[in-house]
This record gives sequence, structure tokens and C-alpha cells, in this order.
Amino acid sequence: MTTPAEAAVADLIAERDRVRSLRREAFAVVRAYLEQERQFTGQITALIAGELGIPKRDVVLGHHECPTSPTRQCVYNDADDSYWDDCVYCHQPSERK
Ligand SMILES: [Zn+2]
Repeated sequence: MTTPAEAAVADLIAERDRVRSLRREAFAVVRAYLEQERQFTGQITALIAGELGIPKRDVVLGHHECPTSPTRQCVYNDADDSYWDDCVYCHQPSERK
């Protein structure tokens, strides 16, 4: 015969297992998202490098919106502008107030 305490423990263990399953699913979604973003960034970087005629390693994708950039974000040429002060497209710096 199951006591109330044993039943409560069984319920908690079942709930814990359900939450762990959700966590595994959430991590799988995050891993898929990060992989997609990595691939996207690699493809965008290659296209920008080709357009600018510079090595991929020198392309820095900024975080500010840039109306004249094909990516709609600022792009910096790390070889010529290691402080990222001059977006290739809009000439704005990476650091802004
Ligand atoms: Zn820009």
C-alpha cells in the first residue's frame, strides 16, 4: 500500500522528469538556432567579403542598423579599421552613444 508521502514523492519525481524532458527539448532548439545562425553568419560574411574583395577573416558584422548595407547592419573591415570606427557602408563607428 502506498502512503500519502510515497504518492507525493512519486508525483514530484514525475514532475521533475517532465521538466527535465522540457529542458532537453529547449536545449535542442537553442542548439539548432545557434547552428542556423552560425551558418547564416558564415554565408553572409562570405558574400560581403566577395563584394568587398577582402578575406572573410577581415569582415566584421556590426550590430547597428545600416540603411546602405546589404545586410542592413554595419560592416567593418578589420584589416583597415581594427577599431571598427568606419562602417564600410555608412562610415559610422561601432561604438556609439
Ligand atoms: Zn553602417
